[in-house]
Amino acid sequence: MMKILTQTQISAYERCRYFYYLRNVRKLVWPIEAGESKNVRQGDDFHLLVRQLILGFPVGSLIVPEKDENVRRWLDVYCSVQPLGSPEQVFAEKEVSVLFSDILWLGKFDALTVNDDRLTIYDWKTGSARPEKEKYQNAPQTKLYRFLARSCASRLIGAGLHAVPAENIEMVYWFPEYPDREIRLPYSEEEYQRDMTWIKTRAREMSSVDESDYPRTQNTRHCRFCAYRTFCFTEPDVSFQEEEIPQEEPPELSEDIWQAGLFSPESFSEDEPEAVNF
Ligand code: SF4
Repeated sequence: MMKILTQTQISAYERCRYFYYLRNVRKLVWPIEAGESKNVRQGDDFHLLVRQLILGFPVGSLIVPEKDENVRRWLDVYCSVQPLGSPEQVFAEKEVSVLFSDILWLGKFDALTVNDDRLTIYDWKTGSARPEKEKYQNAPQTKLYRFLARSCASRLIGAGLHAVPAENIEMVYWFPEYPDREIRLPYSEEEYQRDMTWIKTRAREMSSVDESDYPRTQNTRHCRFCAYRTFCFTEPDVSFQEEEIPQEEPPELSEDIWQAGLFSPESFSEDEPEAVNF
């Protein structure tokens, strides 16, 4: 079966290789303690509401979860700022896939806009942490999503075999808690080449099935809210370094969706990294 990787899996691998091993290689199901997923649920609710807005639902018809003041406030901020502007085309939760280095790489852009032959990927971040450009510049999500957009760009804008340069692609992180601090990350061919090398390395490393290739993180801040902490740390009074509650993960593609045949991937070889229509 073809191996599938997403930005969530790469981010997990970067935080703790052992976590990635447990979840994605060993596929260990471990109970999550209740009460820690509220920020994830709120993030999901916000993503759903924005998706409906992009699809043309009137704001008055949207159903905001009762008593959820954060989601209501985020939606009001989104409607007042209109972070997408007035693009020629806009897609909500656009799913893309690229076969590269024997791995099927999946991504789902919260929104994708097209203006002439320029593409902008948008990602909504509902966490409370103050946005830091350097963190997002180097994030696995940025590397993978801009790479995917560059690889699929011709097809996404209907340009046939006409190559769309990386300079025509940009990724934007937008924060409803900090609407005046959006982070814009333009792309370049040089970064695209670097990202291909990085992705090839991750493809090789993350294909191992040997547990010894996946050491535990030394940074126990990542353990504090980890679903496997009671698996890794059996002592009841273990203490971890402080870390604020992690930001929500965006709605993620799953292997199940792929295996149900709902995707038609772009495909290209390592030697000739250009998108080819099937
Ligand atoms: S508890 Fe810590 S070491 Fe164990 S999987 Fe989670 S992050 Fe890794």
